[in-house]
Amino acid sequence: MYETTYHRAKSAADAATKLGGAEDGKYLSGGQTLLPTMKARLAAPSDLVDLTTIDGMSGISVAGNTVTIGAGTTHAEVAASKDVAAAIPALAALASHIGDPAVRNRGTIGGSIANNDPAADYPAACLGLGATIVTDSREIAADDFFTGMFETALGENEIVMGVKFPKASKAAYEKFPNPASRYAMVGVFAAQAADGVRVAVTGAGNDGVFRHKGMEAALSDWSAGALDGVPTPAGSMIADIHGTSEYRAHLVGVMAKRAVAKAG
Ligand SMILES: Cc1cc2nc3c(=O)[nH]c(=O)nc-3n(C[C@H](O)[C@H](O)[C@H](O)COP(=O)(O)OP(=O)(O)OC[C@H]3O[C@@H](n4cnc5c(N)ncnc54)[C@H](O)[C@@H]3O)c2cc1C
Repeated sequence: MYETTYHRAKSAADAATKLGGAEDGKYLSGGQTLLPTMKARLAAPSDLVDLTTIDGMSGISVAGNTVTIGAGTTHAEVAASKDVAAAIPALAALASHIGDPAVRNRGTIGGSIANNDPAADYPAACLGLGATIVTDSREIAADDFFTGMFETALGENEIVMGVKFPKASKAAYEKFPNPASRYAMVGVFAAQAADGVRVAVTGAGNDGVFRHKGMEAALSDWSAGALDGVPTPAGSMIADIHGTSEYRAHLVGVMAKRAVAKAG
């Protein structure tokens, strides 16, 4: 690991000023992606600006049909939240299967979606529920937020402050985890969401998380059987040492059926 300078941010404005003044700085939340990357010398930021020291950055609230989760809220806090479990049980269950206990106790929802790893779980929940990402300057619909592998709509120095999830009448997430890391080989979040049926797929797409429009159309008849014969072209799927694109395309169908059956 290279030398770096650590800063505690007092507010979002203070964080943006500190990052703006750094030579080549990075925001830090749970550090569960950034610190291993730095240890492996794949990143060498001159400065780390800690966002978790900002007042009000973490916490969960439910008002009406909306569950709001602060960006600094850890995966373990979401998994253990009775409010999340009551409002959107699929979201609490998803959080409980991220990584291992160490990752869940430090990693945050804000860091996860800002990073937009193609195999991360939360992007599927955001897209599958039609969430809204709240930043320090605007609100971005999940449909517009995830723009490609490790790419988001965030501008330079923009900070994710939280996520607003609308409740769904039915929702479930099923993932086939990589046995070593627990990242999704394929994960499918299926929901009868506030604005209609949504099916979001993570772990599989060359461009990161995506909505499966063919499955969404088929699920106007909400049943696992309605997905029989719905194609998932392998051409746009990831192929790596863990599995071929054809294998991932097949898993998308299997996970989607399980998610719909689980949602009831
Ligand atoms: C062994 C292991 C297993 C894992 N398994 C899984 C898994 O099964 N599923 C899964 O989804 N994830 C998994 N992860 C990733 C984990 O969920 C991380 O918590 C997450 O990717 C990053 O969150 P973080 O808070 O640690 O962010 P950090 O590592 O602190 O930051 C990640 C990136 O986001 C930026 N950033 C952080 N917060 C913000 C913000 N609020 N606004 C703007 N930019 C920000 C940082 O500058 C950095 O570029 C795993 C990680 C490890 C090490």
